[in-house]
Amino acid sequence: MQLSTQLIHGGISEDPLTGAVSVPIYQTSTYRQKKLGQPGDFEYSRSGNPTRQALEALIAELEGGVKDFAFGSGLAAIHAVLSVFQPGDHLILGDDVYGGTFRLLEKVFKPLGLSYTMVDSRELSQLEAALTDQTKALYLESPSNPLLKIIDLEKSAVWAKKHGLLTIVDNTFATPYLQQPLRLGADIVLHSGTKYLGGHSDLVAGLATTNNAELAEKIGFYQNAIGGVLGPQDSWLLQRGIKTLAVRMEAHQKNAEIIANFLSNHPAVAKVYYPGLAEHPSHNVAAKQMRGFGGMIAFELLDESQVANFVESLKVITLAESLGGVESLIEVPAIMTHASIPKEQREAAGIKDRLIRLSVGIEAVEDLQSDLNQALLTNITADNS
Ligand SMILES: *Cc1c(COP(=O)(O)O)cnc(C)c1O
Repeated sequence: MQLSTQLIHGGISEDPLTGAVSVPIYQTSTYRQKKLGQPGDFEYSRSGNPTRQALEALIAELEGGVKDFAFGSGLAAIHAVLSVFQPGDHLILGDDVYGGTFRLLEKVFKPLGLSYTMVDSRELSQLEAALTDQTKALYLESPSNPLLKIIDLEKSAVWAKKHGLLTIVDNTFATPYLQQPLRLGADIVLHSGTKYLGGHSDLVAGLATTNNAELAEKIGFYQNAIGGVLGPQDSWLLQRGIKTLAVRMEAHQKNAEIIANFLSNHPAVAKVYYPGLAEHPSHNVAAKQMRGFGGMIAFELLDESQVANFVESLKVITLAESLGGVESLIEVPAIMTHASIPKEQREAAGIKDRLIRLSVGIEAVEDLQSDLNQALLTNITADNS
């Protein structure tokens, strides 16, 4: 089955009881037990709920995993996955991972005894240098947030396996439509379902998928033991969103390519980060491991003092955190999504104060382009006055 068909018919896509073509929202906390001590398939909705199960079956199929687990947010999914490690364990982490992932490790897991080293994960030499006897996993994002760095996932997973490490990939920016990390050698794939999978900026959700039965058992244990599960309403909404993922992603990346080229040629823009541009340093790696280049762009304004002015003068594009919705969203990582990373560390990772991240929506690209253009021109005029 082709992926765009799987998005609609994969996992559990219908109600076996009535034939309804949309899985019902099983808004229940508990289930009748016919015999004492012999619960049916479902016992209590933290441990299992049919609507959530339908979503989980779908994601497992899309990512090529044996099992998926749905959580109340991307961070709750990451929390459950990191819970499989023990005090004393060490992780190697990409240096521009999502700010909340960094905060979770630094403020929650580090005090509990987990340590980590952040490196430019494109460089095998940096991975080697960070390796210790205690290292248990390599944690990657590709494309990364916010700099759209591309990490060769296959090569990284081979390296990790050689050293007995698990490879964990946050696949939020690409989605399984564009990239399937488990098929490239990863052991666990994470998603913020809040972003492209949901696709309409109307829910918060997280997913963790693995192709390893033993790991699935562990993650399942922590999903139930910690309890950060996704409710039935949001499980349904997420599955509904995923049905249109193929058409949305195609539209996102078509627009993104045009906008990236437009920004590259604009005199007020110093630099554009988009894996689809031939000058992107890892363009070839992206072309090899992804079906397309996605809808995320980052760029730097020439004049740092005009950043606020620029984002505030946009009319169609919304100044907001988050990404992956049908509407275009823009943000300034240093002040918004990545503010929890200390400035020196941010700068060292290349996240400058003049960096802007744009989640290109599926509006008419002419409207997006003219909105950016008028805000950039306001910017230049203000500069000259
Ligand atoms: C948003 C995001 C997360 C966190 O997900 P939430 O649903 O906000 O908890 C993790 N990783 C990446 C790459 C993200 O963009």
